[in-house]
Amino acid sequence: MFEKSTWIRLPRNVVVGHGVLSETVDAVDELHLHGRPLIVTSPTPREVAGERVAAGFADEGLDPKTVVVDEASFAAVTRVIDAAREAEVGFLVGVGGGKAIDIAKMASDELGLGFVSVPTAASHDGIVSGRGSVPDEGTRHSVAAEPPLAVVADTEVLADAPWRLTTAGCADIISNYTAVKDWRLAQRLQNVEYSEYAAALAEMTAEMLVDNAGSIKPGLEESAWVVVKALVSSGVAMSIADSSRPASGAEHLFSHQLDRIAPGAALHGHQVGVGSIVTEYLHGGDWRGIRDALATIGAPTTAEELGIDDDTVVEALTTAHEIRDRYTILGNGMSEAAAVEAVETTGVV
Ligand SMILES: [Zn+2]
Repeated sequence: MFEKSTWIRLPRNVVVGHGVLSETVDAVDELHLHGRPLIVTSPTPREVAGERVAAGFADEGLDPKTVVVDEASFAAVTRVIDAAREAEVGFLVGVGGGKAIDIAKMASDELGLGFVSVPTAASHDGIVSGRGSVPDEGTRHSVAAEPPLAVVADTEVLADAPWRLTTAGCADIISNYTAVKDWRLAQRLQNVEYSEYAAALAEMTAEMLVDNAGSIKPGLEESAWVVVKALVSSGVAMSIADSSRPASGAEHLFSHQLDRIAPGAALHGHQVGVGSIVTEYLHGGDWRGIRDALATIGAPTTAEELGIDDDTVVEALTTAHEIRDRYTILGNGMSEAAAVEAVETTGVV
């Protein structure tokens, strides 16, 4: 008796390239979304892209409404939901580096409305996945929502974003290596559902980025192109798996724990990159290769470069397994001595 089934939710339109911001209206039009758009953005993204996107919708007579959010918080999500209800909008468009997109994604999930992602920085794979989270009084409020219906990534805008955001996106992709290793381990030890296709795609994406590491340079649209396409591939891998597993393992648990202990200290991608060096070491793999790839791109490889003190890194490693019920190489937790040994050996501290 065959009883397997799967449901793969993918973005319908993914538009990437030079000047594609002006194609946002067309990309949305094809989705047969109706009603007013609500543009969710933050101050700088609004200037670099949000206003142009709004103008495009206005030209079509769609009377867009814009909400500017200042920080990633649950209060901001609530404010967007209220604004959407009040203006009776038909769909949401997140325009930003990550914060605005996460907030728009969570609000649209709650509202049951369509959501379009317009990233202004290639800083993490949340710009194409359905997964998002914002801090909520000491914890994090997360959703595993549907992925955006469309992604419009203008390489001209992305290449202009602060370089550290792009290196964070690269590091988030490089972390696929250890995420997939953790996933396989969990499959073997815990019979966790595993997808060969999703794992292969996630690994290949990391590999292609590492192979191109030397040509990823600030200010180049070509670099933005390489990184954002890799982020899209990672998102597709998560869609195929219907899980964040292909792109999120112990290195992500470590990063989430740092977010709790030292909120706002470093970028998500940079934290998972350093986490990957350590967890690759724990897997007995080529941690030097991961470290060197991060260094070539200009992403942090040490606690100091993250701006986080050594003790905090050790604390995050020894407590990361408590974050969520996700089996990884961290198992039931690292002892402090083992964590110190791992970070010293890998040169993280
Ligand atoms: Zn990530």
